[in-house]
Amino acid sequence: MLRFDLASLEEGITMKQLSTYQRVMHVMEGKLPDRIPVIPQITYTTAQLTGVGLVEALHSPEKTSEALLAGQRELGYDAIYVGWESSFNLLAEAMGCTMRFPEDSVPQVVDHVIKTPNDVEALEIPDPMKAGRLPLHMEMLKRIKSEVKGKVPLFAYTPGPFTLAGQLFGINKLMAATIQDPQLVRALVDKTTITSTLYARANVREGVDVVVTADPTASGSLISPKTFETFVAPHLKHIIMAVSKVGAIPSLHICGKTTPLLKLMANTGARALELDHLVDLQEAKTQVGDRVLIMGNLDPTNLLLNGTPAQVEQAARILIETVGSDGRYILSSGCEIPPNAPLENIQAMVTAAEKYGKFLLDFILVLSNSTFKFI
Ligand SMILES: [Zn+2]
Repeated sequence: MLRFDLASLEEGITMKQLSTYQRVMHVMEGKLPDRIPVIPQITYTTAQLTGVGLVEALHSPEKTSEALLAGQRELGYDAIYVGWESSFNLLAEAMGCTMRFPEDSVPQVVDHVIKTPNDVEALEIPDPMKAGRLPLHMEMLKRIKSEVKGKVPLFAYTPGPFTLAGQLFGINKLMAATIQDPQLVRALVDKTTITSTLYARANVREGVDVVVTADPTASGSLISPKTFETFVAPHLKHIIMAVSKVGAIPSLHICGKTTPLLKLMANTGARALELDHLVDLQEAKTQVGDRVLIMGNLDPTNLLLNGTPAQVEQAARILIETVGSDGRYILSSGCEIPPNAPLENIQAMVTAAEKYGKFLLDFILVLSNSTFKFI
């Protein structure tokens, strides 16, 4: 399907190579890029380049920013995800949850702050510039922003309200309460929506270009479309609208099997959907590709952690050729890339985008076939 007007087509045809920032913004704005952007969901995997320990880095904006910058500089992908651990963990801690810091992994919530319904009312909204370790995140963002000087787009996660509610209350209790005590869930999710919105806005103020609301607990693998409509969608819309209002691009990340939720996800107003490897991207494209940009979805574990560069390149090529032909696609992983994934596999994603994701600048072919071809 051809979605570009003639003016943007001509621009696409006459342009040579776009800068990294231009390439991503072209796609986000519905214009034809010079090639498919490649943005792996990579954060702590970049520790391999600087040798910093995962836990050591948690308290050092200097070390996390160094690693994240090195990842983009050395592997050549098209944006930086500014983050080192889940935003919902960071905010859960800032709201009073107790965390465990394992030596070889990311922190986990071990004690939920909501134990009785009264605790919801007493829950305080954290100041994104002051509470818990949030200032460390903001400092990391400032450092990265000042280094990239507007040449590389910055993405940052903000927690989906349903997922943050699960961190504060416990996921099993939250799921049960959607049936047994919907009032409680509403009150809790209202608070987590405000929290996530303030955090998202603070990220934009400090220079983030794309705010990705991450709501893994709202996965189609865990909840029904009806629960999604009741407890998730209105709150996602609120955050997404707030992100748009302050001039940033809203994106939405939900893990697992989200095929039954795709239309509801597109209805939130997100400009892009980050889809997991369990979703058939061609099916997603058919359902919602005329409304949102699709990002995804190489298997983070079976392929990016355990596969070979040749396998990654081949899988990326298939994605580019099957869902990228209208230019409304970003090659990415299905979810966060594991810390020990070989960097050669990330490099293979970039190679695939450069080899197979360039648009053939043939005006006649474009107009006669109403489609784009790749070189
Ligand atoms: Zn995910």
